[in-house]
Amino acid sequence: MRHLKILFENNQEWVASKIGKEPDYFTRRSLAQDPFYLWIGCSDSRVPANEIVGLEPGELFVHRNVANLFPHTDFNCLSVLEYAIDLIKIKHVIVCGHYGCGGVKAAMEDHHLGLVDNWLRNIRDVYARHREELDAMMDQKKRYNRLVELNVLQQVLNVCHTTIVQGAWERKQPLSVHGWVYDMESGKLKDLDCCLSSIDHVEKIYRINLSK
Ligand SMILES: [Zn+2]
Repeated sequence: MRHLKILFENNQEWVASKIGKEPDYFTRRSLAQDPFYLWIGCSDSRVPANEIVGLEPGELFVHRNVANLFPHTDFNCLSVLEYAIDLIKIKHVIVCGHYGCGGVKAAMEDHHLGLVDNWLRNIRDVYARHREELDAMMDQKKRYNRLVELNVLQQVLNVCHTTIVQGAWERKQPLSVHGWVYDMESGKLKDLDCCLSSIDHVEKIYRINLSK
């Protein structure tokens, strides 16, 4: 008896529907991946990266973790970014947060959850950096939503502060880093109008002279 039978049945139906429309769908897509985009998103099951942006297998390189963070010292994040930029040569990095993010909510509270408390410390740092703006918001939901946005903006900067992104810019490799938020209640994406595409967009203290 196979475990999780329903998932294998779903898989069979999915395969049949794809092949029904395009007989060589899987053969063609298995040959190589050539995505233009790296998606850095939250692990939340309500935020399925490919589906939200209507992309098929092979079209979106994806990294997900709790609250879509990009800490400077996380080798998982750094390895994904380096592979995506240096080898796959993606052209866009998208950091996408989402309203209603449990990780961001937990970072606003003082409950002890476990190891994840240490991970979410990164968001507490974002809060501390913007305390004045956030504390001035009396509406709890608005403050929560704003922290979701500020967290995305901080992670965009973290991505741009890496030697990986700055190296690509120095080589004149086309690369833009974007900050978006997904609204689970409407299914729509919001562009935070944050698009960094050259070293000129990076604060001086974070610029690294890679030729020295
Ligand atoms: Zn989340």
